[in-house]
Amino acid sequence: MEQSIFEKILVGEIRSEIIYEDDFVFAINDINPVARIHILIIPKKRIDTLNQMNEEDTTLLGRMVLVAKNLAKEQKIDDTGYRILLNTNSDAGQTIYHIHLHLIGGEELKGI
Ligand code: AMP
Repeated sequence: MEQSIFEKILVGEIRSEIIYEDDFVFAINDINPVARIHILIIPKKRIDTLNQMNEEDTTLLGRMVLVAKNLAKEQKIDDTGYRILLNTNSDAGQTIYHIHLHLIGGEELKGI
């Protein structure tokens, strides 16, 4: 299977500044931000969509949420508010088939 864009970023094949990294997840700024702060939190283990999540991935998904929370604090948007979002498949607009959380904030957000 061809590597996902995020796997290519992780190995340095595609250039992107990694703003957070630990043994299990990493984070980058979204290339096409929809708000002042738009960060992607990505597991190093590739899971194509949330539909492929297993019981064994619960700690990993929990870590992704924890990292999102910590980055929100670091970006000083924890008090003003933020949204985390995980798109699944085409109706949700998923374009990269390697799950990731969007951390969006830094301004008043419209919609749900
Ligand atoms: P999704 O639609 O949920 O799959 O989100 C994919 C996101 O990845 C979009 O918000 C894109 O703007 C973003 N994206 C695509 N390529 C890159 C890249 N090279 N670096 C950073 N973000 C990217």
